[in-house]
Amino acid sequence: MELGAAQAREQVAEAARRLYERRLVVATSGNVSVRIGDGGLLAVTPSGVPYARMVASDVALVRLVDGAQVDGAWTPTSELPLHRAIYTARPDVMAVVHTHSLYATMLGITGRPLKPVHYAYGLLGDPVRTAPYVRYGTSALANEAVAGLGANGAVLLQNHGAVTVGADLEGAFERAEILEWLAALQMGAEAFGPSLVLSDAQMAEARVALAGYGPERRSE
Ligand SMILES: [Zn+2]
Repeated sequence: MELGAAQAREQVAEAARRLYERRLVVATSGNVSVRIGDGGLLAVTPSGVPYARMVASDVALVRLVDGAQVDGAWTPTSELPLHRAIYTARPDVMAVVHTHSLYATMLGITGRPLKPVHYAYGLLGDPVRTAPYVRYGTSALANEAVAGLGANGAVLLQNHGAVTVGADLEGAFERAEILEWLAALQMGAEAFGPSLVLSDAQMAEARVALAGYGPERRSE
């Protein structure tokens, strides 16, 4: 179903408040966007408005093609180039969530890759990569993030944070939570010493099972 602009702004504001409540962002860091209707417009979180009290009218509307703002009281996030680059490179992506969540960011600081320590890794990537450090808000960072993301659902940003994407905002949000949980799981397990990871064959098997992941109506 295609999203209208009003509905998209509501979704973005609600996701922003929920990201804050679940401690995936702090203060005004991180950002969220969704692609509207036929894809010509994006609803994107504004720069500098605290996530805890974000409302729909705070959310900026911008054109995908050139980033021009068409509505909203506040200027869009400084990471707008990142969001636009992902939508341009990935027609399948309808929502982008960028966080500075604690464990995903810590993992990107260690320089160690996210490993398949649990089958849920299959919901994020094959494999999940870490994009090299580039200053926030630049088109160079956007390019590195797009390259690191590839066809995946998540990418870590070295010494910065993480980006997840989805076919809708719920999907992108859920991936942000799964990524944070997996990073915490891996770092916690590795604190005890060398840990076990799933083999390529085990992950391939898990990916087949996960292909139908999501809510399923009981057949009558
Ligand atoms: Zn950031």
